[in-house]
Amino acid sequence: MLTWQLVRKHRGTLHLRIDDLDTARVRPAYVADIFDTLDWLGVDYDSGPRNAEEFAQRYSQRHRLPGYETTLDQLRKTGLVYACDCSRARVLATSTNNLYAGTCRDKRLNLDQPGVAWRVRVPEDTHVTFEDGMSGPQRIRLDRVMGDFVVRRRDGIPAYQIASLTDDLHDNVNLVVRGADLLPSTAAQLFLATHLPANPFPQTIFCHHPLLTDAEGRKLSKSAGAKALRTLRGEGPSPADLFGQWTGTLGYAPRRND
Ligand SMILES: [Zn+2]
Repeated sequence: MLTWQLVRKHRGTLHLRIDDLDTARVRPAYVADIFDTLDWLGVDYDSGPRNAEEFAQRYSQRHRLPGYETTLDQLRKTGLVYACDCSRARVLATSTNNLYAGTCRDKRLNLDQPGVAWRVRVPEDTHVTFEDGMSGPQRIRLDRVMGDFVVRRRDGIPAYQIASLTDDLHDNVNLVVRGADLLPSTAAQLFLATHLPANPFPQTIFCHHPLLTDAEGRKLSKSAGAKALRTLRGEGPSPADLFGQWTGTLGYAPRRND
């Protein structure tokens, strides 16, 4: 809703994109729920899929795999990418602060062998700086928050950072609104973009917003018992009741469905 308000205020074009590369977590019912929820919220958009069928036929990230492969090839040519054959258990056992220990950095494993992940080498003391549209200047120590992060998974699927960056370039995205928990991802994507052939990604405006929290200040998550919007939809309150405390702060409120 915050993205919607910003885009409408600045007379931009709002594009709906749904990430579905992680096939283990994708369910048709979840995709359908996104469309139902947007309709219930009264959030309209200007381009992108109108329904689950159109999404599957024309917009699924599965159709964009060649573009992600191109990005990976470009990255590989920089020499920053290396293969990692560590199991998940080994990565966990050797990590400090949840960061990969760099075990395979200098092993020179073959990138083309099956079953290896591709990681990007993030040199020590790598700072990523940008001006956040909501919270001002940012300076992120990428090596400390992401370490040598995965760009291609062991199963050969491009990682989120690659798909997101490639999609943003493909869709000519110039404003990204996301939760503050994704600041490390933004830094990772900016780092990747600076190593790819000239592209406008570093000119993107990023707005990282605080996360919604419960009464105890904890981030809302379904695993911690927060109610899904799907549940709230069935319980009667209107979007205005739920979000009235902060919708309209930019002078825009979604259309009312009732
Ligand atoms: Zn490894």
